[in-house]
Amino acid sequence: MDVNVELPVVVIGAGPVGLAAAAELAERGMEPLVLEAGAAPGASVRQWGHVRLFSPWGWLTDPAAERLLARSGWTAPDSEACPTGAEWVADYLAPLAAALGNRVRTGVRVVGVTRRGRDRVVDAGRDSEPLIVRTDGGERITARAVVDASGTWTTANPLGGDGLPAIGELQAGRRVRAAAIPDLSDPGERARYGGRHVVVAGSGHSALTALAGLAALAREVPGTRVSWVLRRSGFGQVFGGGDADQLPARGALGVRASEAVQAGLVEPVFGFRTERVEQVEGGPMVLISDEGHKIDDVDEVLVLTGFRPELGWLSEVRTELDARLQAPVRLAPLIDPNVHSCGTVYPHGAAELGHPEPGFYLAGMKSYGRAPTFLARTGYEQVRSIADALTGDHEAAARVELVLSETGVCGGAGLFDATGSTAGTESGSGCCGPAVPVEDPVGGASSS
Ligand SMILES: Cc1cc2nc3c(=O)[nH]c(=O)nc-3n(C[C@H](O)[C@H](O)[C@H](O)COP(=O)(O)OP(=O)(O)OC[C@H]3O[C@@H](n4cnc5c(N)ncnc54)[C@H](O)[C@@H]3O)c2cc1C
Repeated sequence: MDVNVELPVVVIGAGPVGLAAAAELAERGMEPLVLEAGAAPGASVRQWGHVRLFSPWGWLTDPAAERLLARSGWTAPDSEACPTGAEWVADYLAPLAAALGNRVRTGVRVVGVTRRGRDRVVDAGRDSEPLIVRTDGGERITARAVVDASGTWTTANPLGGDGLPAIGELQAGRRVRAAAIPDLSDPGERARYGGRHVVVAGSGHSALTALAGLAALAREVPGTRVSWVLRRSGFGQVFGGGDADQLPARGALGVRASEAVQAGLVEPVFGFRTERVEQVEGGPMVLISDEGHKIDDVDEVLVLTGFRPELGWLSEVRTELDARLQAPVRLAPLIDPNVHSCGTVYPHGAAELGHPEPGFYLAGMKSYGRAPTFLARTGYEQVRSIADALTGDHEAAARVELVLSETGVCGGAGLFDATGSTAGTESGSGCCGPAVPVEDPVGGASSS
């Protein structure tokens, strides 16, 4: 029997998934306490507030959160429309945090999680002693369970092709910008990138979004040059499923990027694994690959190579993570881009998200570790299942209550090449199992 039932369930992060966790827990009569490092809920989403999501509203709200919000007269936005990040915050996340009231605390950063009186090594009492959550303000919060939904936004992958920062990358300062999709409606940003040579690194949805925006800028501002650095030797499935994608806005992103390449507005540089960034003070930069190839006269670099989880403050918790993805071991095979090259992901819940540490779960974007393709809707199903597991309803926890969208890449449904035509899948198989080796499975790709 759980002796800690009166204690709160601490949820780390007031992002979409952390807030959904709180709503799901509260609906089942448990007491959630959400700790958010930022000054306001949705702190990470606010950072990319100008970007329009490819998911429509119908995919971006959690059912328990909707029920909680409805009590304060909230009406759901048009389910077919795709909001910007800022609209997601204003029309859903901020009202949801308000409805949760003092169960959400902002400006509180979690700096450690452990078991009361025990470090990682001690076996005794792991089932009976509560978890302890340490904050940057020196608090020691006792918890029945912990759901770490702190995302990966603050730990972006570097430009370096081998996963370490390229030599000179950190010294290049603000001209090598990580995890930033420029807001090209902003005059300052237009002036920064217009008429310049911009290198975009990465092959996920963030990179495609940035490329499509920069290509439009290049049409308007003479002298704008866009190079696209890819570690892989060809486009492969980088443009996604186009019309076959069950999320039309996601499919359209790939089409726009593909058209930009065809129009000569974006110049791909294949097989380029950046090793060094060199610059003469005040002058342009040079990117040098591990094979000595160079990209000269670079003014700005946008590093959109995906994210990785921050695991340092979980050192005293017995996590069980996949060696490749740093995702929970039972979840990893479902999301591994080496296997599921299509990016389609299957629903999963508490069983896949748990760890040897009783009562500790990773959820949301962080649960995916380094895998791309996370969708908020997946996260809502994760925390619904975790909440059921914490109430002891293991049957409900195991039930799959979600249908996710396929990317349209798998099973020959459609693969856009640079000419915009569909060319079938590389594997030619169902979901998935590549028949050919995947050269750059994550591809520096992010789910964004
Ligand atoms: C440009 C872009 C576009 C995207 N488009 C889509 C889309 O169309 N559809 C979709 O489903 N998904 C999209 N995503 C993915 C999206 O980020 C996730 O779906 C969603 O934000 C994940 O929610 P989360 O709660 O797991 O993490 P986050 O949104 O990252 O929230 C984590 C929260 O935890 C807080 N935090 C971090 N560390 C700590 C700490 N130590 N202590 C306390 N708090 C902490 C952060 O401040 C943040 O508020 C996109 C992502 C990007 C970057």
